Amino acid sequence: MTVAVGGRRGVDLSNGLENIPVLIERSPDEPTCPEFQYSPDNVQGPGCTVDPSEITVPGCSCITQSCFTESCSCLQAHGRAYNNTRILLDLHKTNTGYCSPVFECNALCSCGDTCSNRVVQRGLRLRLEVFSTWNRGWGVRTLEPIKCGKFVCEYAGEVIGFEEARRRQLAQMTGQNNYIIAVREHAGTDSVTETFVDPAVVGNVGRFLNHSCLPNLFMLPVRVHSVVPRLALFAGRDIDVLEELTFDYSGGYSNQPSVELLSTRSDAAIQASRTDGLQRKACHCGTKNCRQFLPLDLSILN
Ligand SMILES: [Zn+2]
Ligand SMILES: [Zn+2]
Ligand SMILES: [Zn+2]
Repeated sequence: MTVAVGGRRGVDLSNGLENIPVLIERSPDEPTCPEFQYSPDNVQGPGCTVDPSEITVPGCSCITQSCFTESCSCLQAHGRAYNNTRILLDLHKTNTGYCSPVFECNALCSCGDTCSNRVVQRGLRLRLEVFSTWNRGWGVRTLEPIKCGKFVCEYAGEVIGFEEARRRQLAQMTGQNNYIIAVREHAGTDSVTETFVDPAVVGNVGRFLNHSCLPNLFMLPVRVHSVVPRLALFAGRDIDVLEELTFDYSGGYSNQPSVELLSTRSDAAIQASRTDGLQRKACHCGTKNCRQFLPLDLSILN
């Protein structure tokens, strides 16, 4: 099905499942669409004991259109993550690796759909295009400017358990892409929450994002209706039309390494990693600070 978005024509990779079509530009080098099942949301995979679509987080009883910190139980319990225009607050915090966990208003909240504490759950709002790069396979670029702190897209796929993530990584053939993202959230000294998302077979546009050692997006786990976090990607700086969107597979941002320990109990250190298989692969991000190789994280195998 051919669609037109912002003056460009192409095929909608999401088959109408997103709010807005995700264009895919096919080139002579990559004439066929990649084979996978498009899903805008996480789905429950092997070893994941909680169905990500089940509502497990309590809601607030605000009867206003948008929630106020003074009266909202959601905002009081977890703090305000976004401003009134849905821009992520405290960007500096995420640069250090420390962040307050983000909880949005959910299906049990009585506030309106337009509440400013509903962002990631509103889904894709930006015109994005999957295109064929000359040296890194597929990539994703934006067809409109993006402001720093804006939610861009999720990294959605099958949510799987640790053992399954390990099994899939070991079963992988050399040269195959690995798509599994492992997010570890540390809160307190001995509390670690691990989430593994694999968009290889079932996934969204996020699976086409390339790694960069100087990325323009960063990843933050965001909880909406479920305790299973959604892996949300936000703009780390203002991004121009047609810029390629990238994130650091090792979870860092602005050359800050991801941090594992935390300073206070309410802050959580988040460590994300997606490797590209067990072989060292050259990084082609082309930035000045390039580390030459894609991140290699073997912690999943230990
Ligand atoms: Zn609300
Ligand atoms: Zn509220
Ligand atoms: Zn709420």
